[in-house]
Amino acid sequence: MHQQRFNLFIFLAAVGFLGILITQAYWVYNGLLMRRDQFDRGIQLAMRTVLSRLIDYQSAQKLRCIELGEGCEELGQRIETAVPLLLLDSLMKQEMNALGLEGQYKYVVFNRPNKRFVFGQYEGYENQLVNSSYQQSLKAVYVPGDYVLSVIFPDIQHHALGRFSLWVVLSAVFMISLLFSFWSTVSLVRRQKRLSRIKADFINNMTHELKTPIASISLAAEMLSKQVVASDYAKVARYASVVKSESGRLQTLVDHVLMSAMLEEGKVRLNRQKASFSALVEEVVHNFNHRVSELSGKLDLDIEAGLPLVYFDRLHMTNVLVNLLDNAIKYSRGAPEIWVSVKSASGHVVLAVADSGVGIPPEEKDLIFKNLYRSHTGNLHDVKGFGIGLFYVKKIVELHGGKITVESEHGAGSVFEVYLPAVINNENYES
Ligand code: ADP
Repeated sequence: MHQQRFNLFIFLAAVGFLGILITQAYWVYNGLLMRRDQFDRGIQLAMRTVLSRLIDYQSAQKLRCIELGEGCEELGQRIETAVPLLLLDSLMKQEMNALGLEGQYKYVVFNRPNKRFVFGQYEGYENQLVNSSYQQSLKAVYVPGDYVLSVIFPDIQHHALGRFSLWVVLSAVFMISLLFSFWSTVSLVRRQKRLSRIKADFINNMTHELKTPIASISLAAEMLSKQVVASDYAKVARYASVVKSESGRLQTLVDHVLMSAMLEEGKVRLNRQKASFSALVEEVVHNFNHRVSELSGKLDLDIEAGLPLVYFDRLHMTNVLVNLLDNAIKYSRGAPEIWVSVKSASGHVVLAVADSGVGIPPEEKDLIFKNLYRSHTGNLHDVKGFGIGLFYVKKIVELHGGKITVESEHGAGSVFEVYLPAVINNENYES
């Protein structure tokens, strides 16, 4: 899949996912509002029912007193007689129980203008009751003073969410798992894409690298099969040496690939010995001096005096140094400028290989240590390689109990630092 199509697919999937997320949040929010609305209506209806029962009661009282021919002046003179406490209490209980709110409410009858509380269950909730949104005017049963029946539900939030909260939690769980699987799928596809690109690059590089020695060997063999050449010993020797050096090249290639496979499987065993690491660095740098000066570059070496000894595998550490110096030359801009130093720092011997080359983009700093990874800089500059070198270096350094770090400014150069644990005790210092 082309990068653009892939990005478009991710974009569309992300938009779709965001859409589902927003719709889901909208429905959850709407559901909550509806539930709240339903609750409010239920309470308002219950309060109106209480009022209408009070009106019925008052009418029945009046009828009875008229029937009995008693003076009805007493009725409705005081709020306490217009709205009898016991009756109100039982009506409230009846209505609230019907809504499933048994024992979850507080109510009061109070005078709105002067905030005088007449009766009810209100201790500790006075303020909330005065400001409650569930209020019913009692003017229909008692006019003077603007009395109000007010109700609150101290744990109303809890109630309104009630069983709905289970759906909210479930939605959140489904959304998170969907988000997680979306993210994992995208990163898996990305990883697969990167791997297939790396594999394709590797196969390209490998076939390219194999072609040259194979062509040289076959040409040399063809020449050797000719009578005129076979009778000339000098020519035979020259073609034989071509076959030898080119097959050596092939052998090195195969060895590199095998080594990376062995490292990947953890099959490499070290043969470590206590020795001077800086002496090895000096030797390898010396061997590189010729190559660097041929390229009109410079290669500086700075070794701290009295460094501790290190337990290391000579062969593999030589390869580590060769790889780092090789890269410093390969990824230089023009004539290579390389600075190598060996110092000690907190129980470690630290090798630094710095160059003023092309540098490494920040997003690739970790990737370059992965097997077969080659940065685009490598391919752009048409520099030969398979992306095995730094993977090998890192693995070998880690097998030594050390670590490797890289600092780099893209376009200005890189510094690779290898930390190897030092053998610390008095006799283990270089003289
Ligand atoms: P190779 O050199 O064969 O590509 P390596 O594993 O040695 O493989 O390096 C991996 C990548 O790291 C290279 O492709 C290159 O882009 C980058 N790299 C390594 N060393 C340097 C360096 N000194 N300066 C800039 N880039 C480097």
